[in-house]
Amino acid sequence: MDAEEFRRRGKEMIDYVADYLENIRDRRVFPEVQPGYIRDLIPDHAPESGERWEDVFKDIERVIMPGVTHWHSPQFHAYYPTANSYPAIVADILSDSIGCIGFTWASSPACTELEVVVLDWLGKMLNLPEEFLSGSGGGGGGVIQSTASEATLVALLSARAREIFNYKKKHPDQHLEDGEIMAKFVAYCSDQSHSSVERAGLIASVKMRHLSTDGEHSLRGHTLQEAVSKDRAQGLIPVFVCATLGTTNSCAFDNTLELGTVCEKEGLWMHIDAAYAGSAFICPEFRPLLDGVQFAESFNFNPHKWLNVNFDCSAMWVKNSDLISEAFNVDPLYLKHENQGKMPDYRHWHIPLGRRFRSLKLWFVLRMYGHKGLQEYIRKDVKLAHEFEDLVGTDDRFEIFAKVVMGLVCFRLKKSNEVNERLLKAINTDGRIHMVPSKVKDTYFLRLAVCASRTNSDDMKFAWKVIQEVTSKVLNEEK
Ligand SMILES: *Cc1c(COP(=O)(O)O)cnc(C)c1O
Repeated sequence: MDAEEFRRRGKEMIDYVADYLENIRDRRVFPEVQPGYIRDLIPDHAPESGERWEDVFKDIERVIMPGVTHWHSPQFHAYYPTANSYPAIVADILSDSIGCIGFTWASSPACTELEVVVLDWLGKMLNLPEEFLSGSGGGGGGVIQSTASEATLVALLSARAREIFNYKKKHPDQHLEDGEIMAKFVAYCSDQSHSSVERAGLIASVKMRHLSTDGEHSLRGHTLQEAVSKDRAQGLIPVFVCATLGTTNSCAFDNTLELGTVCEKEGLWMHIDAAYAGSAFICPEFRPLLDGVQFAESFNFNPHKWLNVNFDCSAMWVKNSDLISEAFNVDPLYLKHENQGKMPDYRHWHIPLGRRFRSLKLWFVLRMYGHKGLQEYIRKDVKLAHEFEDLVGTDDRFEIFAKVVMGLVCFRLKKSNEVNERLLKAINTDGRIHMVPSKVKDTYFLRLAVCASRTNSDDMKFAWKVIQEVTSKVLNEEK
């Protein structure tokens, strides 16, 4: 493909993408293929000689689309949203074309500098405390991680490194190996936290305790305090807490104000995982849920979930970037440059070395929607969730399982878990909408998340109609 052909084919692809997204309602949201389906559709070997564009292009509909789950269909209500917007897609074309690898400032200055400034913009939209902003002149700042899972892991590894250092300083005569010190460390999260938090503990080799939550599925300060005291009494060293704002199960909120108070008193690193709900904190009416962030050492949310920035863009802020860069600092000669120290070398802030120019898509989105446009977007989704909640309320076969705060409605039939499981399965087999279930404290429920940007009021009514129809069928079979 030469430049002339690229101009032509690139435009064709843009047209294809616009047609795909604008007509996505016409496609079945969840595919009907079986595992291994692609092997039957394409050859066993890569072609010897290059093929024609027309033949490659044709195979998008023949090979790929039959096996795509259409996350941007308004009938997609599973998991949580993943963002998708035209400004972000266009910015990613530019990022791919510049194609730089921004591991140090010198490896492509614009890549680092735009990220520093745009994360300050976003931090200000969230009204984060000054200490988290790079422009405040302290040690704070933001970084784009690939995923919330990585942000949690980076925070935990940094807390671990800090505590190993502190321990050695405090006990210079013990001469313990790092591993022996780490064996005493304990980290905490709630029984509702995302599976990535448990994995961070496994990868970092730090014991992770899942503490029980209150009636609203929220982790409270006294629960943490009791656990910390008990562990200290046994000679263990509490180091880290991951609080969740907007759990994946039911969008519950830990009490970060209470947890933060305990962390401050006990000298623990508090990390806040607000992967989904964090986007809503750009609206003043939701910002109170973030109170307590002043006690956090690190905070993370995913603009790639709910803020119109395509995957991957997970924004993380820290108060003291030395604590994370020192945890990962290794310095081979080929990565040194003469401006070291004046701007962040982001390679010290995360696990991979290589990094894409991801701040471009965030920059495009923030500029083209504006703070107001993004607030409207969030509010629209929350309103739709409440509309659906009201529909559920009109049918006394159902109950709402958890308070609806953002764009997620958790509900269930007032029947056994088994019946609810059968209902969920029947809904997905029916195929007109797609949802996933969850279970909290042995209660199985259905989750309807407002996901795609094109979702509207009629889609809520449609989803409810489908659910009611399938419910009647399932309950009839019961009898
Ligand atoms: C989605 C989610 C995650 C995982 O996000 P990734 O960016 O895919 O790692 C973690 N925590 C919570 C609360 C989430 O909702």
